[in-house]
Amino acid sequence: MPDGDTTRQGRTLRTPSALREAGLLRPGAEADAARVAERFAISVTDHVAGLIDRADAEDPIARQYIPDAAELVTAPHEVEDPTADAPFTPVKGVVHRYPDRALLKPLLACPVYCRFCFRREVVGPDGGLLTEAELDAALAWFEATPAVREAVLTGGDPLMLSPRRLGAILRRLAAVPHIDTLRIHTRVPVAEPSRVDAALLAALDVGKPVFMAVHANHAREFAPAAVAALERLARNGTPLLGQSVLLRGVNDSVQALEDLFRAMLRARVKPYYLHALDPAPGTARFAVPDDEGLVLLRALRGRVPGLAIPTFVRELPHGGGKRPIGAS
Ligand SMILES: *Cc1c(COP(=O)(O)O)cnc(C)c1O
Ligand code: SF4
Repeated sequence: MPDGDTTRQGRTLRTPSALREAGLLRPGAEADAARVAERFAISVTDHVAGLIDRADAEDPIARQYIPDAAELVTAPHEVEDPTADAPFTPVKGVVHRYPDRALLKPLLACPVYCRFCFRREVVGPDGGLLTEAELDAALAWFEATPAVREAVLTGGDPLMLSPRRLGAILRRLAAVPHIDTLRIHTRVPVAEPSRVDAALLAALDVGKPVFMAVHANHAREFAPAAVAALERLARNGTPLLGQSVLLRGVNDSVQALEDLFRAMLRARVKPYYLHALDPAPGTARFAVPDDEGLVLLRALRGRVPGLAIPTFVRELPHGGGKRPIGAS
């Protein structure tokens, strides 16, 4: 684990046996889950475990986080690195695909591990924390690349860093004259809202805008503790955007998407992107065809405020970048 302290947040479930003891694995599912765990990380925070309806075999929260035997099957079209970051990595931890913005991945740990994650081959509790020297080199790259106007922190989840380390990174980036805005992509406000504390809020206060793109896929992820965390961020001056993935069995209906985007707006989060699923290994059970997604989004128009409608995007293969799908 990076220096984020996970124990103070309550018990996080990280093994098939812990999931079984918590009533989150069906009888007989533990052996398959153990095989999944050999390849892909598992984590369900105490907060998320409390959102799961154990009586519902189709629960849309459980489906996002509880390992399934289907993950052991890689479909022919699935690839290990669907966004093809590697050719766009000028220095370890940086992805520079568009001239004016670049990603910084300071670590690859997350509060929860999503079963559909496009980086599932690399994320994990002990993976990818940049060393001090690597982080210094990555930040020096931002300082030396004047075309870059926005630094996007992703990972993994940057809010798994301690506020002290996160604050140091944000302050150094904010001090770069050509960087106008910072952005953090995170699941923490909905997955482990207790991390949004006074120390984190202070770390975000760096004198330049720090946008936060919050990853959530179902209305029930906007539980009271999550909404309160988002309100703290909003009052702190952090503009909030929503980022979702269109997922079979989680949000693949007009009603589920309407509920999700309305829940975001109530939590002061502007829906920004709805991503089509990237074909990472063992994720086929979540796939929704693009034309079906387009029909869903078109049905939302007129039914919800324009403010509630994100841009529907797909990551092109071989590192082609994001492309809006249809005229949604
Ligand atoms: C998605 C992405 C960004 C940010 O794109 P926006 O459309 O500005 O949200 C930046 N760099 C890379 C490599 C990306 O994949
Ligand atoms: S939080 Fe993001 S990076 Fe982490 S497992 Fe989920 S989708 Fe992947």
